[in-house]
Formats: sequence, structure tokens, C-alpha cells
Amino acid sequence: MNIQNSEKFYAQAQNFMPGGVNSPVRACRAVGRAPLFIDHAKGSKIYDVDGNEYIDYICSWGPNILGHANERVINAVTETCQRGLTFGACHSGEIELAKLIKKHFPSMEMLRLVNSGTEAVMSAIRAARGYTKRDKIVKFEGCYHGHSDGLLVKSGSGLLTNSIPDSAGVPKGYTDNTLLAKYNNKESVEKLFEEHGDDIACVIVEPCAANMGVVPPQEGFLRFLRDITLKYNSLLIFDEVITGFRLSIGGAQKYYNVKPDLTTLGKIVGGGMPLAVYGGKKEVMQCVAPLGSVYQAGTLSGNPVAVSAGIETLKILEENEAEIYTRLEKISLQLENAMQESGMNVNRVGSIMTVFFTNEKVKDYDTAKTADTARFAEYFRHMQDNGIYTAPSQFEAMFVSFAHTDEDIDKTINAIKSLE
Ligand SMILES: *Cc1c(COP(=O)(O)O)cnc(C)c1O
Repeated sequence: MNIQNSEKFYAQAQNFMPGGVNSPVRACRAVGRAPLFIDHAKGSKIYDVDGNEYIDYICSWGPNILGHANERVINAVTETCQRGLTFGACHSGEIELAKLIKKHFPSMEMLRLVNSGTEAVMSAIRAARGYTKRDKIVKFEGCYHGHSDGLLVKSGSGLLTNSIPDSAGVPKGYTDNTLLAKYNNKESVEKLFEEHGDDIACVIVEPCAANMGVVPPQEGFLRFLRDITLKYNSLLIFDEVITGFRLSIGGAQKYYNVKPDLTTLGKIVGGGMPLAVYGGKKEVMQCVAPLGSVYQAGTLSGNPVAVSAGIETLKILEENEAEIYTRLEKISLQLENAMQESGMNVNRVGSIMTVFFTNEKVKDYDTAKTADTARFAEYFRHMQDNGIYTAPSQFEAMFVSFAHTDEDIDKTINAIKSLE
């Protein structure tokens, strides 16, 4: 496949941005290819600046559950733009979006709109600390919760891809209150609570991990987190930035039937625009300014353009819920089956999955790290050469969308089966 124009742009971009990119995994350094520069995308397909067409399983890392450039979403955004891009003031769209979110996430009794998943998580943790008047938090190795200082410890995703254990530039003081536990390992959590129970403000978790590759929670693990946080009067935060509106319309909390105190949403909820949400129990959210003393603000928060993309996306999901989630499960299962028939080691929950190039059952950060990333890079290049656009990292998810056609799935299965 000829990607000359992408290579040229990539060379130029490196003069302006670190590594030529605005987010590290995009640089494709782990797979030995130049990143593709995208010209446009529609439905399940993405087109690079050399005119190549690919079936897209990155889907902007999750938001595009309806595929690219959904007509209803584009129309809603276009119409909203005509009335102004941002007011820095109240508008009724904020209420409409909040209502839709609360309907499907009843645990989010009160919520705030922000601009990125990073901001949502950072703010949720501040609210949890303000409410409990405690400083320590528990996070899991391999879970990614955005790039705020206190959370950049064994945080999977781009760091794992680029072999950066923990970020530089984070003073030790910022992570002193971050306690690390092992995903799917109850004892590691119990131990932290036995030692620090009265100081732990919250446990934050990806209810289905997707940033060390997809790693589902083992039976009873989320319920255990619910029970232990209740026992110690700590809060439980589900970071549903990926799983929200993806595992089901009510996210992972509905899929696994465990209710957190606070939830963060991003990616799908903004329908492709920069929008994220944090929210939960009223008594916790009432600690946030101007009602309470936990400060959090945003010039562009709740801007009408992003809000309209979110509203339209959630409406489409709601109106076609059964059809969309049944279809996603069906075609994702077909892909999983093809991978398994080819002897691949795959973890899948609903429409997110990861092929791990290891013989170990991947259940946490340590087992994920046993993957052979050189072998993964070969797989990536094989898929790209066959017109399939997948994440250029062993430690990311493959995202299936409602726009993927049966023909796309067949073509993808053929590419999987032709891997040597
Ligand atoms: C993507 C992601 C984030 C960060 O969201 P950004 O919008 O990239 O800041 C946080 N948590 C999880 C689980 C994510 O997948």
C-alpha cells in the first residue's frame, strides 16, 4: 500500500509537534510505520491522503459507535453552529443532554459537563476527596484515567505502548496519595484498605479495562469493590469513558449490574466532539462549586456544538437500542470466532476486543505485558496492508461500530485468516 503522502506529512509534522502528533499512540512508533494522515471518513470507512480506503476499527478510539459522519449528528451540529459556537452561558441543550444521560445512568443523579475524559476523572476525584475529606485514592495497574498528574502511575494505554513506566514531570508529592492495586485481584485491594482504610477517598476503576488491551472484570470483582468501599465509607468511581453507552446503553454499570457512587463518561457521549461528563450521588455532587467548596469550572464546558452532537448520538442509540446493541454483539462475536479459529488469544466484551500475542490468559497488567509486541506489529502491518485500520498498539481495544457492514466483517475475517 502506498502511503507516500502520509509519510511526507509525517516528516513535516515532526517539526511542529512532539513526535509529529497531538496524542502519543497516533505516532505508530510501536509498529514501525508512519501514521496515516486522514483526509475524510464516512460510515465504517476511513480514507487517507494517498486515497487508500480502510475499514476502521479505531473509530476515533471509541466515540464513533455509529460510524463516521452520521448524517443526523452532522445535521444537528451544523444547525447548532449557525446559532453560535459558544456562549459561555446557560442554554437548554445542557438540560436535554443531562436528562438523556441520567435516564440511562440513574446513578448519575447530578452531573457536570466538561471537555475531556481527563478533566472528568480529575474533577470526579476532587469531588470524592472534598466529600470524604480524605486524600488517598486507589487505582489499578494498567487502568488509564487520562493524563492528570496523580493518575499517571502504571496507567496503561500510550505509556505502556511507548514503554514509559510512569510519566516524568510529575513531582513525587502528586502521586504519594495514589495507591496501586492489581486488577482482578481482591487481596491487593483488601491489603490497601487494611493499611489505609480510613484515609481512602475513593477507588477508581475501569469496570471493564480497555487501556491495557481489553481485560474484563472477573465474576464478582466489581461487586467486591462495591462492598469494600461501602464498608470503609469510601466512594466507588467507575471510569466509563470507554464503556459508557458501549457495553450497553447504560454502560458497564448496567451490563454488570453494579452501581458506583460516581461515574465518568467521555468518548461516545460527545458524539465525536470534545465533551465528557462526571456525576453521581447528589450529596457528593452538591459539594461542587457554586453549591459547595470543591472548585471546578470550564470556559467551553457545555458548549452548544458538542452538546448537540451528544444529544443526537444518544437519541439515535436510544431509538434503536435493541437493533444497535444486538448487531454490535453479533458482528463482534463473528470477529472473535474468526480470531479464535486462527488460534489467536482474544479478550472481548460486547463491541470491544483485543488480540493478545501471548499464550497466557490476560487478566491484569502483568499478564498483558507478557504479550509479544513484535508479533503484534507484524499483525498490525498485515491488517493495514489488507485495508484494515486497527490500533497501532498491543494495548488498545478494537472498536466495532454499528456502521460496519456484513461485507466489512467478511473482509476483516479473510484478513485475519490469511495472517501467517
Ligand atoms: C480515553 C480515556 C480517558 C481520557 O479521556 P480523554 O478525553 O482522552 O482525556 C479516561 N479514561 C478512560 C477509561 C479512557 O479510555
